[in-house]
Amino acid sequence: MIPQSLAFLLTYKCNFLCDHCSVSAGPECREALAADHLRRVIEEAYALPSIRVVVFTGGEPTLYPDLLQAGINLAHEKGFVTRLVTNAWWAKTPEKAYHFLQNLRAAGLDELNVSFDDFHLPYLEAFGGEQNVVNAVRAATALGMTVLVGAVLHPGARIRTSYLRQIFQSAGIQQEVKFLEDFVFPLGRARQKLPAHFYISDPEKREQGACREAGQTLAVLPDGKVLFCCGHIVNSRAQAILTIDSLASGAPLPEIVARMQRNVLYWWLHLEGPEAVYDELGVEKRFQRKCEACFYLGTAYRRKLQALAVRKEEVFARWEGKKVGLPA
Ligand code: SF4
Ligand code: SF4
Repeated sequence: MIPQSLAFLLTYKCNFLCDHCSVSAGPECREALAADHLRRVIEEAYALPSIRVVVFTGGEPTLYPDLLQAGINLAHEKGFVTRLVTNAWWAKTPEKAYHFLQNLRAAGLDELNVSFDDFHLPYLEAFGGEQNVVNAVRAATALGMTVLVGAVLHPGARIRTSYLRQIFQSAGIQQEVKFLEDFVFPLGRARQKLPAHFYISDPEKREQGACREAGQTLAVLPDGKVLFCCGHIVNSRAQAILTIDSLASGAPLPEIVARMQRNVLYWWLHLEGPEAVYDELGVEKRFQRKCEACFYLGTAYRRKLQALAVRKEEVFARWEGKKVGLPA
């Protein structure tokens, strides 16, 4: 596997404090990615033709407008597709939404992803409310951008794709909008705030098998760490098992990717998924969500995992012929 997208978590700072937030973002978080690291990684990503999309996310990336604009600008100049993930706090009126996005569009923004659901609504209300989402989507489609609205569900959730379709239809938005639904993960702030009934417990929906996300997206965190996925545990105690390097080491991105391709856990997760690792560890515990399984691999089962490292060559040998994208 060779990475197809690069996701910058510009910051964990956020003007919302959603109960389900798996990266535990909020107003108290301060750290933001250094501008020279952002620039350097985008320039180095140019040498990796498999990377086509550059994503700006967080936290709320629009709270650092200069950094965001500079990143979009450079990524666009280099020919990447650019995507912004946001909570749409900035779209209180149609005019504000248009003006805000017009500047980013001029900088080279191609795609707008708005996160909106029952968890976001109480915080969005402080900036306008549901109408912000309508304003943001209308402005983005008028500017010719690809638009996606993502909702995180829990059993009994009110705001979901069917509801969103309805409000866009009532608002007269004719252009195509993509929708994405996911279920809440018992990770990050959700782990502390949400009781068990918020999570899916349908065995039919239990995630099993390979995690194709591993290696597909490289995540760059606000502190400069580079991870081999952008899963729900990136800002948790389990983060270390996904970490390839830190930008502070000075290693260029192609070298970081080469190192990822020699990382046995990355291949394991990518080819077989976390459950296969549990089998190898002799642990029977099973999880509803793959990222949850990785969280426990990086915490409760970390020592057992480390003990497997001495058998790296043996594990690698099993996959001869299955690995794609290894450097010659
Ligand atoms: S889910 Fe998104 S909007 Fe909500 S606190 Fe986390 S980063 Fe902020
Ligand atoms: S399952 Fe593991 S490897 Fe896959 S996205 Fe989640 S944390 Fe990353």
